[in-house]
Amino acid sequence: MKFSEYKYVRPNLEEFKSKMDEQLVNIATEKDAAIEIAAVYNVFDIQDYIDSMQQIVQVRYSINTKDKFLEGEQEFLDKNSPLIQEVNQKFVNKLLDSTNRDALVKEFGSYIFEKFEVAKKTFSSEIIPDLQEENKLSTEYSKLLAGAEIEFEGKKWNLSQMRPFTTHVKRETRHAAQLAVSGWFESVEEQIDRIYDDMVKVRTKIAKKLGYKNFVQLGYDRLGRTDYTSREVKIYRDQVYQSVVPFVVDLVERKGKRLGIKDLKSYDLGLSFLSGNPTPKGDSTWQVHHAKEMYEQMSPETGEFINFMIDHELLELDAKEGKMGGGYCTFIPEYSSPFIFANFNGTSGDVDVLTHEAGHAFQIFQSQKQIPEYRWPGFEGAEIHSMSMEFLAWPWIHRFFEDDTDKYKFNHLAGAISFLPYGVTVDEFQHGIYEKPEMTAAERKALWSKTQSKYMPYVDYDDDKFMKKGTYWYRQGHIFGVPFYYIDYTLAQVVAFQYWIKAQANHRDAFDHYLALCKLGGSKSFVALLNSANLESPFLDGVIKKTLEPLKAYLNDIDDTKL
Ligand SMILES: [Zn+2]
Repeated sequence: MKFSEYKYVRPNLEEFKSKMDEQLVNIATEKDAAIEIAAVYNVFDIQDYIDSMQQIVQVRYSINTKDKFLEGEQEFLDKNSPLIQEVNQKFVNKLLDSTNRDALVKEFGSYIFEKFEVAKKTFSSEIIPDLQEENKLSTEYSKLLAGAEIEFEGKKWNLSQMRPFTTHVKRETRHAAQLAVSGWFESVEEQIDRIYDDMVKVRTKIAKKLGYKNFVQLGYDRLGRTDYTSREVKIYRDQVYQSVVPFVVDLVERKGKRLGIKDLKSYDLGLSFLSGNPTPKGDSTWQVHHAKEMYEQMSPETGEFINFMIDHELLELDAKEGKMGGGYCTFIPEYSSPFIFANFNGTSGDVDVLTHEAGHAFQIFQSQKQIPEYRWPGFEGAEIHSMSMEFLAWPWIHRFFEDDTDKYKFNHLAGAISFLPYGVTVDEFQHGIYEKPEMTAAERKALWSKTQSKYMPYVDYDDDKFMKKGTYWYRQGHIFGVPFYYIDYTLAQVVAFQYWIKAQANHRDAFDHYLALCKLGGSKSFVALLNSANLESPFLDGVIKKTLEPLKAYLNDIDDTKL
């Protein structure tokens, strides 16, 4: 069956509620453990069904936002998702209350209880109006940015359409493009400052109502971080400062030499090579053809996976009218189907979809038999699968990039390392914000500037007075939408580097190791996943330095001025 034939029926919420209630009476009511375990499995089936209906609508709507039927269904689900959440929360509380905990742990493991304990702390009916306020602010921010219209070279563009100009090979174009983007942000400065101030305050209020000292730990708990705290994250950031920043300073200097520019400015950093950034040498059909060959040759498991995706039409790749922006990977339990959504635009980002998003999809394909709570890991865990697949694809990557292959490899690795200081800047900034929620807008901007110059001393905004004020973070949606979600990408990147090292030594072994990690899905917390896969935790002092050594040696061996 193809994705277009997957059946969608609008969920009957009364039926959902009563079906759940039928099962919940058998949980935490002194019943026999076997009855309780059977009821929990029934709950999972009910949840999988309603989740599948939600996923099908969301995917179809994101492909065609002009379809009135889908728009109506999406609205219905948006409106009713708090009700679904409320019922699911009842299940969480009941399972935690069960007197058969030992038998349940034997069946489902202890991690689900750890997850549910944390989930319980983050919610109470008292905070519902505040959550609604928080969502409203989030939507206001997204809409504001999505509606950006930037005048440039006689035309109007949105923020993502400005990217080809801000990374243009002509320096004057890049420079002018950066100033144009800054000009737009300056025109909405008061609005963004007000939205963010309201967000920080309502989040702090929610935290206090739930009994937290401030929002920091609540932010961690919302992300389901059960085995590390802001203490470990601080040790991690310090390592990035000591071991990564000096090397990135080197890499930036090398870029200056490559581009023939003595004093690099902020608008020079997005360009990697004077001859232009590497691009794939064919359209989406051509790229999928190469992806199919690559995954068939990589392993029997990846071969089965890619053919499943192609045969069921689970790859939606080309940009088209009426389609939402961005890219994602999701999963439809009723049809055992991952789904990949993207907007191909002819840049190397297209190939990243076929490696990065396919890494996410491959992981869920391998872990789909786990109970729903264990299928996906947290964000930090999930990005290991995607970022490592980008590296495992290297032996085939020349088929996509042809003459640009060396440029791509250098850029991929150097870019991944250079990303770390920015990632920790975003994280340290947010800790400062939520530890001192009473800060003024000007104090927040000063904090950004201070943090950014600590980790990214090479960023010189030149004559861009608005960026100099400390406003770059305005465009980083995670800071607004999901606080403290960002360090995850950097944590996963350090772990993915370990797969790059393994793959350089022996690709077969590296892949087998990776496959075992994918099969674990989200059955363990982040550090526990690393431990059971024999990967080194980036939180341990010295791990980043050690992990970076072979990567540095590889990059230092390349004469990048010849690329
Ligand atoms: Zn990802």
